[in-house]
Amino acid sequence: MKTVTLGKTGITVNRNGFGALPIQRVSVEEAGRLLRKAFDNGIDFFDTARSYSDSEYKIGLALSDVRDKIVIATKTPSTTVEGFWKDLETSLSLLKTDYIDIYQFHNPAFCPKPGDGTGLYEAMLEAKAQGKIRHIGITNHRLAVAQEAVESGLYETLQFPFSYLASEKDEALVRLCAEKNVGFICMKALSGGLITRSDAAYAYLAQYENTLPIWGVQRESELDEFIAYNDNPPAMTAELSAYIEEERVSLAGDFCRGCGYCMPCPAGIEINQCARMSLLLRRSPAAGWLTPAWQAKMEKIEECLHCGQCMQHCPYSLNTPELLRKNLEDYRTFIK
Ligand code: SF4
Ligand code: SF4
Repeated sequence: MKTVTLGKTGITVNRNGFGALPIQRVSVEEAGRLLRKAFDNGIDFFDTARSYSDSEYKIGLALSDVRDKIVIATKTPSTTVEGFWKDLETSLSLLKTDYIDIYQFHNPAFCPKPGDGTGLYEAMLEAKAQGKIRHIGITNHRLAVAQEAVESGLYETLQFPFSYLASEKDEALVRLCAEKNVGFICMKALSGGLITRSDAAYAYLAQYENTLPIWGVQRESELDEFIAYNDNPPAMTAELSAYIEEERVSLAGDFCRGCGYCMPCPAGIEINQCARMSLLLRRSPAAGWLTPAWQAKMEKIEECLHCGQCMQHCPYSLNTPELLRKNLEDYRTFIK
């Protein structure tokens, strides 16, 4: 089984981490079964967040009896000290534990630092001193904030989107983490569902020994794929490398990663799916995207107010209204 050590935390875990965002979408029983199966098959890193509705509750329920054998990372989106403590206490209670291994600021718009006036980083230090958290981490979708966090020396881990669709700057960030001994946790290793071959995704990331992918698991078949990689980790081959190159060409340019940071939309448009519908139609079974319900959601794009809110929040600086328009046009043609 391949393992990875998360920089200066010294935490060493299975190279297959469990991303617990998607278990929000399944029942408590099903989530419990998936989490337990993952644990029974050597997966020992579980990443969740206060913002993932009942994900922490489900982890607490399924894994509290093996707490000392797993590593839990969770996150707070709070921008106030009061909210920070409230979130931390809630997470501890739902996770049925008295400590969080890695507590992360969840995609803040800036890099919290001591003395910046927010008190957030000081709260992290205090939580650490109280033993409620063991390591301080940060997650981000913005390259500039991520770079600043790594350079600052204040963070033990960084969680950032990283997959074979990464840019050279993203790859440089991973190398910077190795240099600064900051653990690198990869989110969106399947680029929000756009990458369909997990063996290619795994083999690409395995080339960066300091990275820990957290695979978002919702179905047992997905979990089984990653469990199989414990004993037979996919290695980069000429075939996989050629495949990745083709994928990079076909997905080049500005595309929506489905992160949802632009939501909610005041016009009620489901931007994180609608703005990448053309890709979803061609990279996953199309039938599910052509139902009357999805047709209605796509037609909602016509109601865009052009308020620009989505563009302000998009970490990839996309022209979202324009992207939505193009996707609607293509969708209508596709249906015909
Ligand atoms: S510009 Fe359109 S899509 Fe974007 S947030 Fe405003 S209404 Fe929604
Ligand atoms: S438009 Fe930007 S913020 Fe919105 S889901 Fe797509 S990538 Fe994320």
